[in-house]
Amino acid sequence: MEQRATPLIWNPILRQYLVNAPHRMNRREGTNECPFCADITSGRVSPDTNVWLHPNDFPPMQAPVGEAYVVIYSREHQRKFTQLSVDEVHAVTRLWRDLYLDVASRYPTVMIFENSGEAIGQTQHHPHGQAYGVSVIPPTLERELETVIEDDEAGRGCPFCRVRTELNDGPHQVAANTNWQAFLPPYVRYPYETHLYPRRHVANLALMQDDELRDLAAMLLQVIKGYNALFDGAMAPMPYLMGLHQLADERFHCHIEIQAIGRAPGKLKFAASSEALWNLWTNDSSPVQKAEELRTAIAKKEA
Ligand SMILES: [Zn+2]
Ligand SMILES: [Zn+2]
Ligand SMILES: [Zn+2]
Repeated sequence: MEQRATPLIWNPILRQYLVNAPHRMNRREGTNECPFCADITSGRVSPDTNVWLHPNDFPPMQAPVGEAYVVIYSREHQRKFTQLSVDEVHAVTRLWRDLYLDVASRYPTVMIFENSGEAIGQTQHHPHGQAYGVSVIPPTLERELETVIEDDEAGRGCPFCRVRTELNDGPHQVAANTNWQAFLPPYVRYPYETHLYPRRHVANLALMQDDELRDLAAMLLQVIKGYNALFDGAMAPMPYLMGLHQLADERFHCHIEIQAIGRAPGKLKFAASSEALWNLWTNDSSPVQKAEELRTAIAKKEA
């Protein structure tokens, strides 16, 4: 198949890049053969390997513009993320750290993310996430970095540490363990959008200890299982976008944002005109109330 170098196109009006990747229209959708199971049958991964990286067969970017990988969470095709144990997800978060260490040596941005659910375009069912190394810093990350730099230069310290402290143990909090906190900040765009912060100020996965990665694994499972327990399971499986924001700059504070797309049983939230065309978001729900629903769902799940 033709693989043209995929360019970054500069938008001079918004002053940001767009990835132009026309060849991705041809990517397989819903084919029977699983390319990740093929890694096992072909012997590409050894029998004792449970998590691994698979090069993205339809990468939106190629070196030196960027690189794309698929992160395989389990050998078992039918397993759902929520069926993995904390130890198994810990293997995934440690693989994320290895991946960060490798890719960050070549690119300023390492995007680790997951698109979960057919409603938002997941095409492979084998449990997996993705990762991109990118030669530019995407707009959202750049905006967050600008805030971090402004606050640092004004002597205000880390804005993420401030948010974390303000929301600690309050009505916006959803879950907490020794090393991580999860909450719905007042400014979330989606009703169940959840942000996960490490308690320690740490810029990226390379600087994280094993116990912090284990607590992250436990919290990811807690939150996603909580989503699926909302309305007695009537919204399961909750479609979501999950992304890890991190940078090499030590002033940055690594965190995870999960945009859960469901808003009520059978109903999804879509970015409409004011959101898609102006980037002015409307949240039709109360984050405090949704945080409480999610806390209750998590508690019920663990009872
Ligand atoms: Zn498979
Ligand atoms: Zn911080
Ligand atoms: Zn962020």
